[in-house]
This record gives sequence, structure tokens and C-alpha cells, in this order.
Amino acid sequence: MKVLIAGGAGFLGSYLAERFVADGHNVHILDNFVSGLKGNIENIRDRITLLEDDVTAFRTDERYDIVVNFASRASRVEWEKHPVDVALSNAVGSKNLIEVALRCNALYVYASSSEVYGDPKVIPTPEDYVGCVSTTGSRSPYDEGKRFGDALTKAYERQYGLRNIIIRFFNTYGPRMRGGDFYGRVVDRFVNQAINNEPITVYGDGSQTRSFTYVSDTIEGVMTAITRGKEGEVYNIGNDSETRIVDLAKLIKKLTKSSSEVRFKDLPENDPKRRAADIAKMRKLGWEPEIPLEEGITNIITSKSKE
Ligand code: UDP
Repeated sequence: MKVLIAGGAGFLGSYLAERFVADGHNVHILDNFVSGLKGNIENIRDRITLLEDDVTAFRTDERYDIVVNFASRASRVEWEKHPVDVALSNAVGSKNLIEVALRCNALYVYASSSEVYGDPKVIPTPEDYVGCVSTTGSRSPYDEGKRFGDALTKAYERQYGLRNIIIRFFNTYGPRMRGGDFYGRVVDRFVNQAINNEPITVYGDGSQTRSFTYVSDTIEGVMTAITRGKEGEVYNIGNDSETRIVDLAKLIKKLTKSSSEVRFKDLPENDPKRRAADIAKMRKLGWEPEIPLEEGITNIITSKSKE
């Protein structure tokens, strides 16, 4: 099959591209490298076609069997620095990629997010939860961008018969996730801080929770949804076990044998209090996350020690 992966040089996109290449497919990667990295696709560079472009300007006459839309900046730090980019890549970028898929009668796979649920009142959160989201808060370019991406997908399905699957990712972690201040995602940030014996910065009192899924489980989930899922459905890919952020800090300190202190800082605006995925729909397809948090974090620590 010929597969277009927009955002294919990003954290999740690059692992998915590797998987499609390994399975023998013809992979085209579209990326503008604002947060994706050439290094992420170095090992498959000679087996893929690279299209260096922005999804909001993307046009093509190529025919594809699957169009995967993973093209968006995906961290709070980036949403705050580039809110317009984030909103438009999910709105205009979605429209462009949907129209490519529609022209080819390809399957359109949209990377939605647990962020569409906002600060959910139902935990673990099922796919039919309608959300509790601020339309004007600092997270809204991403939250509402993903909500619009979902809505546009369903609009094209209803009006034009777009073949689609919407996947809602919960917090995924693993090697290649960009750390430090550029990206700022919690697992990588804490591991970097702990390895360098710098203070581990817990926002708020650290009682907020997230459910973390290791990247290999997430990619297996995407392949399961594409190959065994039903078109037109929405699937949560995540974990139903919750971890408090302060406990994550302590776990990472222990696993890195760090002397870092845990330092509490102000909680960012609209930071969701709890997050866990109801994954009953994915379980029915035979998928289940397998890698325990300790093992996944140890893999990250090992990969950093080799850098
Ligand atoms: N967080 C934290 N310290 C950091 C970075 C993040 O305590 O240095 C917290 C953040 O406030 C949130 C959780 O970790 O409650 C997950 O943050 P991340 O940005 O990784 O993902 P998201 O909030 O989008 O789920």
C-alpha cells in the first residue's frame, strides 16, 4: 500500500513510518520540521519519500491508500509559543489531507487527542464523553483544534463518504520524545532533570494524574485500529491506570538514582486534574498496553545514556 504520513518525522509519526516501512509499504512522509526531526527518520531515509512542506499549504496529485494525519505541534510549551500554527495545522491542514484522502478513496486516519475531553469529569474517559474544554484558554488552540479536526472528519464522512478512523492519543512516552524547554513533556523533562541532578519541577501539588502509554504499545494500537477497527469509529489509545505527577517524579528519581530535589512550581492554566483512558473499545479489538511504566522509563534512561 502507498501510505502518506503527515508529521511522519515527529515522535509518534516516525515510529509509525518505521512500522509501515518494516511491513513492506510504500511510505511518503510529509513534514515541515518545526517540531519533527530529520534524525528521527535517518534509519528509514533511503526507503521513504520525503515531502518537506507544511500541511496548511500541501497539495499533491499522488494517489494513496492511507492518509495519516499526525501533523501538529503537540506540547503545551509549543501551543503557547505558536498558537496560530497549532490551530491552523489542525483546521486547514486537516482539510488539505482529508481532500487528498477523499480524492483517492483512501482511509483517512486522524490523530486526535485526549485533549478533546479537556478536564474530564468522567474517569476513565470513554470515546463518547463530550468534553469539558475552555474555548478561550491557553490550551484551546490545540484542544479546539483537535475537536475541529474530529468534527471536520465526521462532516466529510457525512457529506462525501470519507473513509476514516479517529484515534485519540493519551499521554505517550518513549525515546525520541523531545525534552527540555523546547517540548517540555513531563516524562522526558523529569528524566533529563533527574539525570542532571537538577530540581525535578512538579507543577502544582503534583496530585494531578495522567495515564502513560509506552510508544511501542501506542504504535501497536494504531496498527490494530487501522487493520481491525471499524471505519467511522473513534478509538482511545491510552491506559486506564492513573499516575500522580508527584509519584512520577519520585519514580524517575528512584530509577535514575538521582540526588535531585522535587521542586513544586505554579500549575499552568487549565491543566487537567485527572486523565485516564477508557480502552474498552480497543480491548474488543484485542489490543492492550503491555509495557509497565517502570520498564518504559528505564528504556528512556538507557537510550539517553547511549546518546
Ligand atoms: N508537568 C510538571 N512538570 C513539568 C512538566 C509537566 O509537573 O516540568 C505536569 C503538567 O502540569 C501536567 C503533566 O505533568 O499536569 C503532564 O504534562 P505534559 O505537558 O507532559 O502533558 P499534558 O498536560 O498535555 O497531558
